[in-house]
Amino acid sequence: MLPTTATASAPPPPPPPPAAGAGASASASASGEPHAALILALGHMRLRELLACARACRGLREAVAGDPLLWRRLVVEPPLSNRITDEALLALADRARGTLRSLHLLGCPRVSDAGLLRVVQRNPGVTELFVPKCTGLTADGLVKIIQFLHECKGNLSRVRLHGICRMTNHHLDVINSLICRSSQHDAHALYYNHRVREVLNTDDGRPIDVDVCPLCRNVRLVFDCTRTDCREVKDVWSRCRGCSFCVARCETCGGCIDLEELGETGLACSDFLCMDCWLKLPKCSTCNRPYCERHSNLKENLSPSGEFTCQECTAFATSFESLGDGD
Ligand SMILES: [Zn+2]
Ligand SMILES: [Zn+2]
Ligand SMILES: [Zn+2]
Ligand SMILES: [Zn+2]
Ligand SMILES: [Zn+2]
Repeated sequence: MLPTTATASAPPPPPPPPAAGAGASASASASGEPHAALILALGHMRLRELLACARACRGLREAVAGDPLLWRRLVVEPPLSNRITDEALLALADRARGTLRSLHLLGCPRVSDAGLLRVVQRNPGVTELFVPKCTGLTADGLVKIIQFLHECKGNLSRVRLHGICRMTNHHLDVINSLICRSSQHDAHALYYNHRVREVLNTDDGRPIDVDVCPLCRNVRLVFDCTRTDCREVKDVWSRCRGCSFCVARCETCGGCIDLEELGETGLACSDFLCMDCWLKLPKCSTCNRPYCERHSNLKENLSPSGEFTCQECTAFATSFESLGDGD
């Protein structure tokens, strides 16, 4: 019933059949209805898997397209993000038949203000709108969209907006006034970790992800310091709360790093570590620089005892050797 793409003899997975017109050949292998367990599993699938499943046979295609409940939550994430257009988004959202609640567009550059507005006009009950790094959207357009949802007496309670160009304090004030807030105060701290920076989805309880950086006044992700000694002293707390352009943060612990420390804790990757975290890590046997944990896979000539050289030192040694060969 499922496409058997994982057969060992076929090196590249076979290209999926075109969505239209392939029904006859695909359904030939599938006799009868899809298994009930499979139908249940559809509810737990990511968009990409769901679309692949819908291509497997007619029964599944009907099950996927015919159930609006499956589409109340729509998450478009890489690698689909780069491909989704306004038209494709509208077609997917329409499967919810007006009941879309949660729309996550993670880094979708081809979705425009007009396209997104059309989607929310047909789905005014959207409560979650995540559009981080959707570079085709504008701050003005988003204010209009959120305004529309507010006027529809929708219940929009969570938005994710980081990476939207030219978002000003004014945009943020308006959006803040239009978001439904639960009774509990939204004083969640946001701690830096590379996942927040890399994964587009800062999926925590806060209503809005971005804030005005107290240091540069830009609207960005603003991180709180993880160091207890920073947070216990009131005026220092405000000094090291800021966006990642204003405050250098340790890749491992999320604590702030001052300039002096930064000079002494060089890494073989381009990240930053505080002295405490730097001291704990094994260093390159040539340049004495460690990799952060996230980049530890870049270690070369790794010995069983943990000694290694960094890529830069290895590349330098190789180029030096080849220079000698040339003579
Ligand atoms: Zn800043
Ligand atoms: Zn640290
Ligand atoms: Zn700090
Ligand atoms: Zn090195
Ligand atoms: Zn690193």
